[in-house]
Amino acid sequence: MKVVVVGAGIVGTCVASYLLRDGHDVVVVDSEGPGEGCSKGNAGALSPGSCIPLSAPGVLGKIPKWLFDPLGPLRIRPAYLPAALPWLIRFALAGRNDKIAGLANALRAMHADTFENYAPLLANAGCQDLVRRTGTLIVYKTASGLADSQRERDLRDEHQVRQRVLEAAEIRDLVPDLSSEYKHGVLLPDHGSAANPYRLVQSLAEQFVRDGGCLERRRVTGIVLREGCIAGVQTTDGEVLSDRVVIAAGAWSAALIASLGIRVPLESQRGYHASISEPGVTPALPVVSAEAKVYATPMEDGLRFAGTVEFAGLEAPPDFRRADALVELARDMFPALAVGEVSQWMGHRPCLPDSLPVIGAPPGHPNLLLAFGHGHHGMTAASTTGRIIADLVSGRAPPVDLAPYRPDRF
Ligand SMILES: Cc1cc2nc3c(=O)[nH]c(=O)nc-3n(C[C@H](O)[C@H](O)[C@H](O)COP(=O)(O)OP(=O)(O)OC[C@H]3O[C@@H](n4cnc5c(N)ncnc54)[C@H](O)[C@@H]3O)c2cc1C
Repeated sequence: MKVVVVGAGIVGTCVASYLLRDGHDVVVVDSEGPGEGCSKGNAGALSPGSCIPLSAPGVLGKIPKWLFDPLGPLRIRPAYLPAALPWLIRFALAGRNDKIAGLANALRAMHADTFENYAPLLANAGCQDLVRRTGTLIVYKTASGLADSQRERDLRDEHQVRQRVLEAAEIRDLVPDLSSEYKHGVLLPDHGSAANPYRLVQSLAEQFVRDGGCLERRRVTGIVLREGCIAGVQTTDGEVLSDRVVIAAGAWSAALIASLGIRVPLESQRGYHASISEPGVTPALPVVSAEAKVYATPMEDGLRFAGTVEFAGLEAPPDFRRADALVELARDMFPALAVGEVSQWMGHRPCLPDSLPVIGAPPGHPNLLLAFGHGHHGMTAASTTGRIIADLVSGRAPPVDLAPYRPDRF
């Protein structure tokens, strides 16, 4: 079967790799090249135990305080507020208590086998070194911060996610360079990270081409319909016809299917990073400052501080003061940090209000498969998404119940 995959981020690349393993004729089309979107500069955390929806009630209560701090973890640019408001209302409704258990189940199902589903792709590409299974440490300065996380820890327990609350001395043993202000921690021993998310996407994409896949650098401008059926994509360089089309274009996906009358409330949550190439401190595992909402991930090319959420749409230029603020938080986390050369980056997290992606065919379009909206967990969820889409195309039963990710659930 011929399949066109739109988007060569981590999701499209995993989808294409799994489809090729099944013997399909696969063409990936990306306007920028593999890994140039959100998959490039993220925090790289691979979090099989992640099962906490972003809109959980505890989070909603903190939002007003964050909004008064222009460089805090959450920012809505005032001019963008009217555009973001409908999405924000859906987000708030998704955080209702009676919804949380279902969302947590669906998140855990999407993330649990991240390492297992990456394994064959990494082995094939010979880049197993890019995935590290070190565990992740979440740290808190205050006892109240740790206490606030009780609901999250309960959810992890309900989903059999291994975790251990650490005392200050244990934190110090694990990450000696961390500020002694962090007195409480939760260790997630089964989590890990990508040593370089960009190189991971590129390595998988290069292997995809070596294995006979086709990678085209063009912009997709529309969907081709023949007698009411989807028959390929229109690009800046002509049509690419196919039996199936997979939309995995991250935060840009919703616009591509709007002409078909398919409406998915996809919003960009812009995030930033500041990467320090010679940090002088070397945490052995990713450390998350829970109160500041910042990830410090050791990467093969330095120490990356990533986080923050900004609502400003797909077009507004980055506000790199947010990346500067990450450096200040970095200094606070690691007092001995050597801030030499710093690279800054902004990316568009593709987010749906209920924290779940859309995966599967929308009603009336069996040849079209959607695979986008993985939000804050796209690196983690990509490998399982790839497997699921290949199962759907090849007519096998996918490994997880797809009902929670239905494209028409909104
Ligand atoms: C600061 C930050 C930290 C993060 N940390 C983590 C983390 O620790 N762990 C984790 O699991 N996730 C994390 N994420 C989320 C993760 O990065 C995303 O969920 C993931 O990268 C989305 O992948 P994607 O393939 O769907 O989209 P993208 O990587 O954005 O890829 C989409 C691709 O589609 C292409 N495209 C778009 N429109 C068109 C078109 N019209 N024609 C052709 N091509 C097109 C783009 O060029 C792009 O290459 C983080 C995100 C941010 C911003």
